[in-house]
Amino acid sequence: MSVSQSIAILGATGSIGTSCVEVVRQHKDRLRIVGMTAWNNRATLEQLVAEFQPHWAVIGNHSGPSTQLLNGTETHWLSSFDEVQQAIRRDGVDKVVCATVGLGALSVVLAAADSGKGLAIANKESVVVAGPLLMNRAAETGASVIPVDSEHSAIFQCLDAGRRQDVRRVVLTASGGPFRGWTRSQMRDVTPQMALRHPTWEMGQKVTIDSATMMNKALEIVEARWLFGLSPEELAVVIHPQSIAHSFVEYKDGAVLCQLSPPDMRLPIQYALMYPERQESPAQRMDWSSEMQLEFFPPDLDAFPALRLGFEVAAQGGTSGAVLNAANEVAVERFIQGELRFDQITDLVSSVLSHHQFELKPSLRDLMDADAWARKEAARWTC
Ligand code: MG
Repeated sequence: MSVSQSIAILGATGSIGTSCVEVVRQHKDRLRIVGMTAWNNRATLEQLVAEFQPHWAVIGNHSGPSTQLLNGTETHWLSSFDEVQQAIRRDGVDKVVCATVGLGALSVVLAAADSGKGLAIANKESVVVAGPLLMNRAAETGASVIPVDSEHSAIFQCLDAGRRQDVRRVVLTASGGPFRGWTRSQMRDVTPQMALRHPTWEMGQKVTIDSATMMNKALEIVEARWLFGLSPEELAVVIHPQSIAHSFVEYKDGAVLCQLSPPDMRLPIQYALMYPERQESPAQRMDWSSEMQLEFFPPDLDAFPALRLGFEVAAQGGTSGAVLNAANEVAVERFIQGELRFDQITDLVSSVLSHHQFELKPSLRDLMDADAWARKEAARWTC
C-alpha cells in the first residue's frame, strides 16, 4: 500500500533541488513538500512556495520575512537555521532532502538525524566531513540515510540484493572527466574553460572542476567509506566514460551487481524519496534498441593523484575529511581565479593535508576548526 510522505528540501532551487521538485510534481499524490530552503534564489523560491504551499520556507542569506512573500500563501517564513531545525523536529516531516552545497546545512542534517528523520543526502560535504558523527547519530535514532549521489545510490541499491557480511568489494565508477588518458604533465596547461567542459554530466562549476581533477571521486571514496561502513581495502575505482553503470558491488562468490541507467539525477532522487518502492519516473530510460558500448579502464593514479588522497583520507578518518574538503574548495576557487595551475589543485590539497594537526575522534567543533584552518592554509599556499 502506498503511504504519502512529507518532505523538506534544503537547497530547493539548486540543480539537485530542481530535479527533486520535478520528481515531487510527478508524484503529487505520494510526496508533499512541507518545507523548503534556498540560499539566495528568492524569485524561484517564491514560485515554488506558491506552487507547493509548504508549511515553512527560508531564504538563507536574508534575515526576516518579507510581507510581500506571505500574500496568498499559508507559508511561514523562517529566518534562521535554528528555526529550520525546530520546524523539522516538530512539523511532521518524514524525510529531509539535503541538496545544499557546502557545509552550511550540516547542523540541520545532524539535527534531522538526531530526531530520527529519514535523510536523502545529496550533500557530499556533510558525509565527507562529518560522516562518523552523522552515521552514529542516525544509528542511535534509527534514522535512515539514503544517498542521492548517483554512485552511492547505485551501491545502496546493489547492497539491498545481498547480505552485508557477504560483500567483498565496492567499485565506484568514474567518468574520468575531460582529461581521461592525459598525463600529469599534459594537464599543466589546462585552463578553467577547458576544465569546465564535462563529457557526460551537467553540473555546477565546483563539481565540474572536481570531476576534471578526479577530486570528486576522492570525496566519493570517503563518502562511501562512511555511508556504508567500508574499509578503504573494500573500495576501488574504475573508469567508465559513458556514465551508464553507476557503481558495482562484488560479493564473496564473485558475483558483481550493478545499477545501470542513463545519467539523470531524477532516478536516484526518486529512489531516495520513495525507497523501498519503485515507481514510474520522469528520468530517461535505457534504449536497448540501439547499439551501445560500455567501457571500463583502470584509473591512472599518477595522472590523477587526487584518487590516492581519497584512499588516504578514507583510511585516516578523523579530521582528514574536513581538511580535504576545505582545502580543495579553496584550491578550486584559486584555480578559477587564475592563481593556480590545474595540476597544483591536488598539490595544494596534499600539502595542506600533510601539515594538519590530526585528530582521530573530532567533535563537530573540532571539525569546524579543521575546516577553518584548512581554508586559511589553502588561501596562503604557494608552490
Ligand atoms: Mg557522483
